[in-house]
Amino acid sequence: MSKTKRNSYELVIVTGAGFSFPAGVPTQGQLLYEIEKFEPDTMQPGGLRFLEAKEVVNDFLKTIFLRNYEKQGRQDDDFARKLGVIQLEDIYSLLDRAIIEGDVIPPFSETDLHKIRTSLDACIIYYMNCIQANITHKKRPLYEQLYQQFMLRYSTNWLTITTNWDTVWDDVLISACREKDFLVDYGPNIYWIGPDSKGGKPEPNRLGPRLLKLHGSFNWLACPQCHSIFVWPTKELGLRGVFDPVRCPRCYSGSAQGLEPRLRPLFLTPSLLKTVRNPTLRIIWDEAFCALSTTKEVIFIGYSLPIADHELRYLLRRGISRNTKVKVILHKNDCPARHDKNIQLYAEYRYKSLLGLSDDDFYYGGFESFFHL
Ligand SMILES: [Zn+2]
Repeated sequence: MSKTKRNSYELVIVTGAGFSFPAGVPTQGQLLYEIEKFEPDTMQPGGLRFLEAKEVVNDFLKTIFLRNYEKQGRQDDDFARKLGVIQLEDIYSLLDRAIIEGDVIPPFSETDLHKIRTSLDACIIYYMNCIQANITHKKRPLYEQLYQQFMLRYSTNWLTITTNWDTVWDDVLISACREKDFLVDYGPNIYWIGPDSKGGKPEPNRLGPRLLKLHGSFNWLACPQCHSIFVWPTKELGLRGVFDPVRCPRCYSGSAQGLEPRLRPLFLTPSLLKTVRNPTLRIIWDEAFCALSTTKEVIFIGYSLPIADHELRYLLRRGISRNTKVKVILHKNDCPARHDKNIQLYAEYRYKSLLGLSDDDFYYGGFESFFHL
């Protein structure tokens, strides 16, 4: 698996939400509903803190997003359904914009808005880590077979670029690497937190398959001072990293009072991509560009190329040349009906418009069937 010289890849896989969906990972649109319905084990570490964080978030959503909520009387199922209608992107855009501008959203003060944002991050990470432990197990063989197929066909000459925050694919790569005492190659300058809580960089000759996570990851924590990104063992993150302060293993001097520099989760919503630039994440984007511009083939799996991802659309348009073979694998539900007047609402239209693809470049049977898994 080791790589000494790297000029170009044979294959670049670009994955979106549809890639993790078969494993049971909810889409962004379903997250708020699922989090509201989720009942944590309060005997487990973090369970009670999750409930507290959810209360902070719900109070904000009721006040700002739901009309006449109090007047209509409260019913739990009804509330979850109403939450399901609110776009996560709208909530984050509102919070991020207000925080950056220093605005208040009465009755919420600047301090409240910070707390609401942190609580929303915590709810999402805690929930995702709790459910991932169960869901990935069932469908894991599917992803393992896919990994084996890539290794067999392309050896080390392939990599994955993803917009997903979840760790379905990471888990498969991490355990394949573990057998050889390797680590997943998340990109340059990524540190791994070991059992001793210290951060270390993997030796260059001990790197496994490359996985570039453009929007961050649920198993990452970032330092707000030195901007280092740390990979945290997935299973513990939901229970510890979210609620218990972990000081930066690289730049905490050991003498400062207080908890800072405390590591924070790093997963970026479209609203954040425009404004916050973690320099380490920026390098990951540059690496993605280099891979796309030199590869022979790009296969998109379960990625709908949403307009909101304009940063990635820009990267794809610049990176993918006319000579590169492109295949788009989607689900049958994504397939536009013939003569549908609303063709521009479909992913196919956006791909054709941005990358000049033709009908033959699309496959609507899902990746399971495409790769004969
Ligand atoms: Zn630091």
